[in-house]
Amino acid sequence: MHYVTTKDGRLGVVIKNHLIDIQAAGITLGVPLKHTDMWSLLDGGAKAQEEVDVLAKRAYEKGIARVAYLPQLVTSALPHLRRNVFCIGKNYADHAAEIADKMGISADLPKYPIVFSKATNTLIGPLDTIPLHDGVTRKIDYEGELALVIGKAGVNIAKQDAWSHVFGFACYNDVSARDLQKRHGQWHLGKCLDGFGPMGPAITPTYGQPLPSDVRLTCRVNGELRQEATLAQMIFDIPTLIATLSAGITLEVGDVIATGTPAGVGMGFNPMRFLEPGDTVEVAIDGTLPLSNKLASA
Ligand code: MG
Repeated sequence: MHYVTTKDGRLGVVIKNHLIDIQAAGITLGVPLKHTDMWSLLDGGAKAQEEVDVLAKRAYEKGIARVAYLPQLVTSALPHLRRNVFCIGKNYADHAAEIADKMGISADLPKYPIVFSKATNTLIGPLDTIPLHDGVTRKIDYEGELALVIGKAGVNIAKQDAWSHVFGFACYNDVSARDLQKRHGQWHLGKCLDGFGPMGPAITPTYGQPLPSDVRLTCRVNGELRQEATLAQMIFDIPTLIATLSAGITLEVGDVIATGTPAGVGMGFNPMRFLEPGDTVEVAIDGTLPLSNKLASA
């Protein structure tokens, strides 16, 4: 089961390639449902989630309010962000090595997670176009990542409790302007251009359970495999990331954590292979729906 947001902003549930309009299903089945968009589902906690799940399963079994799922029918699963995305830098050893030379930084593995953030203006949905920002950057790169969405707020979260705070996971592309990232020392400008954070199309719930370490992430450019890794290759695992981020900072419901990218980004090639206008980037992760976005044409 996957939660999505339809183009008109309503909560949808995808079950086996069928998209269920949860509001329409509730009306047809005579079940009044308060949680008709993604934020009200998140804010409603476990009770809201159970209501939505039960209704979605009934509608699916009865063939009510369901159509074949197509990426064109949905937007970013989170229709907007309330806070900046927490991002982890250099969380895969082979990626840390490939960028060290190019960025003029150390190839040593970090002793602690490297954290930066992407501003709320970066969010776009599946099939949305990544802007070119002509005249601002000439080195646009992709970073396929697994994003976590927080479902239960907390501060100073212990590693063993981390997964109980996770609502679900999604595909994410940490699009980066490498020239700005390098020129300005701090990464903020290189990471925060409008539309540089495609996410979704679904948030897939984890129900408090850890994702298996063999979950595989791939990223393709125009169909060519560029990045491939499993969660086992992370330097800092997900409980460590949540414990680190929540140390003295309250994680709120709906916060997004982008967990870092493996080797194979454009900057890592010799010569470097940045995105060209019109290129398509697809991020796929086992168990959730894939994310595809095109860079705008010149
Ligand atoms: Mg990244």
